[in-house]
Amino acid sequence: MNITYAALLEQVKSYQPGKYHATRNYINGAVTSWSPYISRGLLSPVLVMEQLKEQHSYQEWIGFMQQMAWREYFQRVWQHQGDLILQDLKAPQTNVLLEQLPLPIQHANIGINAIDNAIAQLYDTGYLHNHLRMYLSMLHSNIFKAAWLPGAKWMYAHLLDHDPAANFLSWQWVAGTFSSKKYIANQENINKYTNTKQEDTFLDTEYENLTEAIYNLDGQIKSNHTVNWPAPLDQHFDIDTTTILNNINEKNLLQELDINQVTPNQPFCIYNSFNLDSLWHADESVNRILLLEPNHFEQFPISEKVLQFVIDLAMTNIPDIQIFIGNFEDLIQVIKTTSITSNVSAENLVDVVSENSKPIIYFKEHPTTKHYQGIREERDWLFSQVDGYYPSFFGYWKKCERLLK
Ligand SMILES: Cc1cc2nc3c(=O)[nH]c(=O)nc-3n(C[C@H](O)[C@H](O)[C@H](O)COP(=O)(O)OP(=O)(O)OC[C@H]3O[C@@H](n4cnc5c(N)ncnc54)[C@H](O)[C@@H]3O)c2cc1C
Repeated sequence: MNITYAALLEQVKSYQPGKYHATRNYINGAVTSWSPYISRGLLSPVLVMEQLKEQHSYQEWIGFMQQMAWREYFQRVWQHQGDLILQDLKAPQTNVLLEQLPLPIQHANIGINAIDNAIAQLYDTGYLHNHLRMYLSMLHSNIFKAAWLPGAKWMYAHLLDHDPAANFLSWQWVAGTFSSKKYIANQENINKYTNTKQEDTFLDTEYENLTEAIYNLDGQIKSNHTVNWPAPLDQHFDIDTTTILNNINEKNLLQELDINQVTPNQPFCIYNSFNLDSLWHADESVNRILLLEPNHFEQFPISEKVLQFVIDLAMTNIPDIQIFIGNFEDLIQVIKTTSITSNVSAENLVDVVSENSKPIIYFKEHPTTKHYQGIREERDWLFSQVDGYYPSFFGYWKKCERLLK
């Protein structure tokens, strides 16, 4: 999925949004697969909007822009609610039987072919169609009755487009903690949108009969459905962030931040896994640093494959970018040191580091950069005027839609 910005731009220019609205729920519908680049901050949603508006009619792009607005809506909720997006936001999750990740999901062994294939695809490619994500999360939270957060963290870790707002809030929407009801789909629905014809699964019945078909009177999944699954049904899912960062460090050694390659007295642009904007300060002479913070990845772990994607995308698109694995506070010490090494002798270095040196540091506003210091610049918003917290998408969308007319 690594790509140059120029090639991505070609895709945007040639995209035909006319069929999007009618087909987007089908796994072979006219969806774009741009989310890894939008989430990583390489592709600006504003640029996408401007391209579509320039080349197509309102009727052709409005359905697509509504989905882009969902993304921005989730970003606003995260901006206003912060880490509360990791907790049941509007209502508690009801009917929870499992506290950890159901193993049939982790092992792609649910018995619903379209979904087992989707899990294999997630591990293999790091991308999943929106409807497959919905089916997976509803199976996890509403059929296996598992607490939504472990499932959300598992999926997040494997997605190239991992984004806490889009991910955790979608999982909450499906589990009914950020919506008015739980989302359920039966086999007929799955068959329709995934082009499969599977029958006789535990979801293969009318909606009104699902509960009776799946569960015993005590609410447990009937034993004839669980024969192929391990017991206990769930297990803790964890990613060892330290090992991943160490492996990444070893593999990418050549590009790691080298003090000797930092140009003294030049500003610094700090990139991270949500800001790989190749146009940002592009014509200026600056030191470009990709900051990979252990503290961030402790809270939001991702797989090694996904982290390597972040690095490859940055290396491909941002000239002379150097990688720094450490927290912002560690980076600032290195930056301050390099800013003064040109004019201060070594024995005076330690005293001077924190007091005198004031390097210019640019970064972009984002919930993950709240602790950065320097010059904070705005990210690209589609609807910068609609910046409050809206408890429901449709209140938010009403305001955005007016701006699009
Ligand atoms: C359980 C679950 C977890 C999800 N986790 C993530 C995540 O971690 N990161 C992420 O970017 N999206 C997430 N989504 C939203 C959505 O599934 C993906 O953005 C979309 O599938 C990406 O594929 P695409 O680029 O082909 O989308 P397209 O259909 O081509 O849409 C174009 C762009 O609009 C945005 N978009 C479209 N649909 C949605 C939506 N429902 N919610 C938010 N934005 C949308 C995306 O930026 C996408 O790239 C999740 C959805 C669900 C149901």
